[in-house]
Amino acid sequence: MREPFAIAGGSQDVVANVLVRAELSDGTVGWGEGAPMPAFNGETQAGTLAAAAKAAKVLRGVRAGAWGAWGQRLAAMLPGRAAARAALETALLDAWTRRLGTPLRVLFGGAEDRIVTDVSIPLVSPEAAAEAGRRIRDFGVKLIKIKVGKEPAADAARVLAVHRAAPRSRLMLDANGGYRVAQALELLSRLRAEGVQPELFEQPVPEKDLAGLKAVRRRGKILVAADESASSPSAILALARAGAVDVVNIKVMKLGLLGSLDCARLARASGFSLMIGGLVESRLGMTAAAHLACGLGSFAYADLDTPLFFARDPMRGVPIRHGGLYDLSKVRAGVGVVPA
Ligand SMILES: [Mg+2]
Repeated sequence: MREPFAIAGGSQDVVANVLVRAELSDGTVGWGEGAPMPAFNGETQAGTLAAAAKAAKVLRGVRAGAWGAWGQRLAAMLPGRAAARAALETALLDAWTRRLGTPLRVLFGGAEDRIVTDVSIPLVSPEAAAEAGRRIRDFGVKLIKIKVGKEPAADAARVLAVHRAAPRSRLMLDANGGYRVAQALELLSRLRAEGVQPELFEQPVPEKDLAGLKAVRRRGKILVAADESASSPSAILALARAGAVDVVNIKVMKLGLLGSLDCARLARASGFSLMIGGLVESRLGMTAAAHLACGLGSFAYADLDTPLFFARDPMRGVPIRHGGLYDLSKVRAGVGVVPA
């Protein structure tokens, strides 16, 4: 990566992802990416490779178009291996939709063909955050997600530096579960004292602290999003029962591609707004996520920016355009991204 991507749980400076190639009996090829991020949930490249290799043997000979059937087998075979499932599912569905001659987004409903991403700023100094804020503004992106969750005063300094560098940008905070409720509220009051009101606070407190999420939502008077807390269908139902959050972050690398489809529908039916997000995917994985969000339509937030942080781009197809735009209208079949 151009520079380390630091979040509350740790830092990543090299992308160690997994590429899956699927070939249909007629020779059609599809590609899928798994992007394990140890700092987020402990998944690793070695574990993802081993899981994908094991499952690939079982998938040999399945009918690619019967994705309801092999998707369930895969989910049963690889619980807790979302990155491996994502890579296999994307590769098979990329191949299948290439063979059909249809863009992947159509398989998921075809609601939209464009989506605009935010850009994130990791746990860096205020000076580096201001510089990033100016770059993001100049790239035409108006929604910035700032990583926090270490210490409220230092985190406030980072957020205020971004605000001063890009005063008209909308700001979101993401603590990756690094705070207690009191710290999250302290950060918000430090920002409000300077006239800064973020639009949304993602995962202010740890995964299991649903009461804490609800407390930040109520006492902080801010939209709260669940990311780490929304790790399965049952977890999303628990969030709904607790009235804990407003928004659910759907990530292909957390739920799998088909699991994300299920969870997005469940979250929407439960009354949540949706965010589409990722870990540290290249354009292959992120564009697959963009197809899912465009296919379902009406995602309130998109956080699909990590291809911008790669020092060397391993993929070609579907560039992220000025303003953070993913334009899928020109993808004729499949995901539209292949290894360079
Ligand atoms: Mg997050």
